[in-house]
Amino acid sequence: MKCMFCRIGETCFGHQTVTFEQGDLVIVIRAVPAQICEACGEPYFDQATTKRLEQLAEDSAHEASSNVLVREFCAA
Ligand SMILES: [Zn+2]
Repeated sequence: MKCMFCRIGETCFGHQTVTFEQGDLVIVIRAVPAQICEACGEPYFDQATTKRLEQLAEDSAHEASSNVLVREFCAA
């Protein structure tokens, strides 16, 4: 699809690293499936992925034992 952000690039399937910040805690989720703009790099996540990301971030917030947590994206 056409990128809605830059309106120049086309998106193609790839993997993106997503970072959440919750207070002092930084949660990094790697290898998240996304449509990524080849021009500006803007990632687009589908609804299921977005929901799963929120869930992972929430779970991670409880598990975290340091200020930075890095984990791989995994489907539900
Ligand atoms: Zn773009």
